[in-house]
Amino acid sequence: MNSDRLETIRATLLLRQQELQEQARAGAEDEKPVELDQQRVGRLSRMDAMQAQAMSSEIGRRREVELARIGSALGRIDSGDYGYCVRCEEEIGEKRLEIDPAAPLCVDCAQRSENRGR
Ligand SMILES: [Zn+2]
Repeated sequence: MNSDRLETIRATLLLRQQELQEQARAGAEDEKPVELDQQRVGRLSRMDAMQAQAMSSEIGRRREVELARIGSALGRIDSGDYGYCVRCEEEIGEKRLEIDPAAPLCVDCAQRSENRGR
């Protein structure tokens, strides 16, 4: 991978990292104004409130996971390992990195680790 491309990816990752960190700091989901008309607010059940809370903690959890992936991708750029699968050390396809620049695994390893969970 040439260094121009690597720098572009680094910039993309840093931007994404910054966005996520800002969201985390602001607690964005929790404080986002909920736009409901009065009738709907009146009927908002305890269940809805609980679901909303569960969703926002799920979002927070995913954000932590993504921040960790981005952090380790940035580390791999610095150490020169970026673009190679952390498991089998094969090159990760360019298309895959375009879609997910923080991807730590090649397609094969990613599929294998997904299947193992089921
Ligand atoms: Zn692999």
